[in-house]
Amino acid sequence: MIKDIQLRVQPQFAASDAAIRETVAREAALELRRICSCRVLKRSIDARQRQVMVNLTVRVFVDEEPQEEAFQRVEYPDVTGRPQVIVVGAGPGGLFAALRLIELGLRPIVLERGKDVHARKKDIALISREHRVNPESNYSFGEGGAGAYSDGKLYTRSKKRGSVEKILNVFCQHGASTAILSDAHPHIGTDRLPRVIENIRSTILRCGGEVHFQTLMTDLLMEGERVTGCVCRDLVATNGTEGAAVGSTAGTRELHGPVILATGHSARDVYRLLAARGIEIEAKGIAVGVRLEHPSHLIDQIQYHSRQGRGQWLPAAEYSFVQQVQGRGVYSFCMCPGGFVVPAATGPEQVVVNGMSPSSRGSRWSNSGMVVELRPEDIGPLDLGRLTLQERTARHSATLDTSRMDNPQLSMMLFQESLERLCWQQGGRRQTAPAQRMADFVNGRLSFDLPVSSYQPGLVSSPLHFWMPNAISSRLQEAFRLFGRRSHGFLTNEAVVIGVETRTSSPVRILRSDETFQHIRLSGLYPCGEGAGYAGGIVSAAIDGERCAEAAASNIK
Ligand SMILES: Cc1cc2nc3c(=O)[nH]c(=O)nc-3n(C[C@H](O)[C@H](O)[C@H](O)COP(=O)(O)OP(=O)(O)OC[C@H]3O[C@@H](n4cnc5c(N)ncnc54)[C@H](O)[C@@H]3O)c2cc1C
Repeated sequence: MIKDIQLRVQPQFAASDAAIRETVAREAALELRRICSCRVLKRSIDARQRQVMVNLTVRVFVDEEPQEEAFQRVEYPDVTGRPQVIVVGAGPGGLFAALRLIELGLRPIVLERGKDVHARKKDIALISREHRVNPESNYSFGEGGAGAYSDGKLYTRSKKRGSVEKILNVFCQHGASTAILSDAHPHIGTDRLPRVIENIRSTILRCGGEVHFQTLMTDLLMEGERVTGCVCRDLVATNGTEGAAVGSTAGTRELHGPVILATGHSARDVYRLLAARGIEIEAKGIAVGVRLEHPSHLIDQIQYHSRQGRGQWLPAAEYSFVQQVQGRGVYSFCMCPGGFVVPAATGPEQVVVNGMSPSSRGSRWSNSGMVVELRPEDIGPLDLGRLTLQERTARHSATLDTSRMDNPQLSMMLFQESLERLCWQQGGRRQTAPAQRMADFVNGRLSFDLPVSSYQPGLVSSPLHFWMPNAISSRLQEAFRLFGRRSHGFLTNEAVVIGVETRTSSPVRILRSDETFQHIRLSGLYPCGEGAGYAGGIVSAAIDGERCAEAAASNIK
């Protein structure tokens, strides 16, 4: 007999498989020995009341063993000799496009400018240790894309449930815990993601696809209004120093076939290439702000309404805030409970922060992006007087005056670049990040000292309230006051704001048809994922990858 039962239990009764079996036996009045297996189908934490409860939907196998695997497996055929499709970028968009192409009987050729997911780790370590950013191998570039060294949060606002489940099942097939299928807020963790990504690569190679690392797409091949392939360059090595150009090149070659362009939101050279080639793109709204880091025990105390914090049975607590301030949304973004703030720059003269967590979410800190919505019409003369004042460079005032820009489609990207550079200057021209205690930021005071932080390159005290554009800092100040009123203890000098969080989404949209997923003018070009402006996060980028692969396949067959 198989039956699904709903449980609402205290955390200790949902803490392990054994505890769940005992709870099921008790609640369903079943003898423990008759329960062969319990499979959790849904799990969520309800922390609205003083007593935190866990809601579970459990499939109970009574007197029989489960016949199927806990996830649905996809069959990937051998595609050797089948027509090829070029996939540029091995982030979630590109990797899931490649897997879907194989499912549909096509051969993916994946080009990735960065290194494989393990080699990449060394370059990431150098950013913290030696303040060196390798422009081709960092937190955004390399196998797995921007999602590889992240929290691996897999929840999405996408309404396409079937598509979301498919993506989660594919992750399980490649080694992710099946807990991601049941958790209300699933996450994989930065320690487990590389293995999953490596397994995806193995599937692609085993089926006859190709994956080329350190291979930079430098141009598109076009015949009239059709993209027929791309030009790529083999990058041998960089010397890894911040500001260094790519060291040497081992040659340029052409590849032919339709192109799925899944290059992510940090490939500014790709946006510049598209603008220079007159390919239709437009400026897109983004959200910009800071990383906010609290001691995790403080967030646990607030969210779980207990001086003891999370105790033995609960995970590090999450929060989510959203508020309209002066006509723009201010919200928490990409929360990493029990995580680390990381240096996410992709090039010289940038300081950019982001967050990641291990699967245990066990660090002493919890962080999230706190960002303000900005629209293209907000940029231009707005607020830049202050930026310009601070930078005191004529070049910058010229760059940011959209009326004088060659490519106004790139205005949001230039704004990001400018703010990241300003942040680098304020941080001491290294990867050290400018920071301010939270209450000091709200009250417009410089912090005399800073709390211990997870941000490894180090923090330097700086008046963010002063040098950040007023459109951002004043809204953040007001929002923090409101969040502090809503959650007692949240607005505190134990927390620190760290500048700047700019890479929340793509600053550019590559225009494509809603029906064919091809570029609005150029056939054979499939703008894909976050960098094209059609996704925001690992799962939605993966779903978009699948859709682009399907569109490409339908035009080949
Ligand atoms: C530190 C961090 C933490 C994050 N945490 C989460 C999280 O917990 N949950 C979540 O949902 N999202 C998270 N995100 C966002 C998420 O990673 C992205 O939304 C997602 O990776 C976008 O997928 P994508 O495939 O569209 O692009 P990307 O992942 O950016 O991949 C693009 C790939 O293209 C490659 N590329 C770029 N240009 C070229 C070129 N010219 N030639 C060849 N290759 C090229 C890049 O090297 C990169 O590997 C995080 C991001 C960061 C940086």
